Amino acid sequence: MKYGVIGYPIEHSLSPAMFGAVFEREGLGHEYAKYKVAPDELSDFLKGSVSAGDLGGFSVTIPHKEAVVAMMDELNNDAEIIGAVNTIAIRNKRLFGYNTDWIGVMRALSEITVLKGREVTVLGAGGAAAAVIYACLQAGARLTVLNRDVSRADALKQRFNADFETGPLNMIEQIETEILIQTTPVGMAPNEGDSLVSGKYLRSGMTVMDIVYNPQMTKLLCDAKDAGCKIVFGYKMLLFQGAEQYKIWFGKEPNINVMETALLKYLK
Ligand code: NAP
Repeated sequence: MKYGVIGYPIEHSLSPAMFGAVFEREGLGHEYAKYKVAPDELSDFLKGSVSAGDLGGFSVTIPHKEAVVAMMDELNNDAEIIGAVNTIAIRNKRLFGYNTDWIGVMRALSEITVLKGREVTVLGAGGAAAAVIYACLQAGARLTVLNRDVSRADALKQRFNADFETGPLNMIEQIETEILIQTTPVGMAPNEGDSLVSGKYLRSGMTVMDIVYNPQMTKLLCDAKDAGCKIVFGYKMLLFQGAEQYKIWFGKEPNINVMETALLKYLK
């Protein structure tokens, strides 16, 4: 069967490396490709994929995660609440939509720390933040969401019908947090020197995750490490959301080491 990632642009996606490696290791003949699909072609592309008969599913990336929601025949409950689909399974000529980003971030953090009852601050209120916030709420964290545009953080509060603090980014200076999760593109290559958080607010005992994975060691994570914090790499979210996609398509756990090794070959 054929699988692949749909995005626009798509050249930089690491999903083909991750799934290509695990498919090759299994030797079952599955393929995984990149599909560059413009927003106005998305609906026809999905209809064509269902008719083709040899496609098993897709990973969905920027900018299509929200748009594909309305194109699904069936929507998983988590994807519906988050308002984004990053995984499609094609079964009996029907499109099933899921969101595995929230599980990816939860599994990444759970390797290092516990979210339940902890003071967690999320920086950002975009698409990725929605999945991160959903994960934190599911895990029972005590949440604060800070964003440049505070109204977007408030909109997520409404979406999740939750009662968390929101505020501007500089509010970080006034709050004590145990776990900090950075979900904006700040610090991503080619702007590796940028960070939203001054090193002086980081202290040992904190856990800091940056969901940016290029570079692997962002400025924020460097500063956090210097301050004695525990750090969580953004690529772990990518890895574990991919592992969940594999489970949806094939009903079993993938070889995570093969996927991780393949990812790390492409990350600085
Ligand atoms: P998005 O929906 O466009 O949201 C961007 C967010 O970043 C918004 O909250 C935006 O604030 C904020 N932002 C952007 N530029 C900023 C700046 N210069 N200063 C302060 N805030 C800024 O994007 P997204 O889909 O959430 O993706 C965000 C990042 O997460 C990307 O780097 C993406 O590669 C990464 N990501 C990683 C994974 C993973 O598996 N590790 C998964 C998904 C995404 P405003 O609302 O104020 O504009």
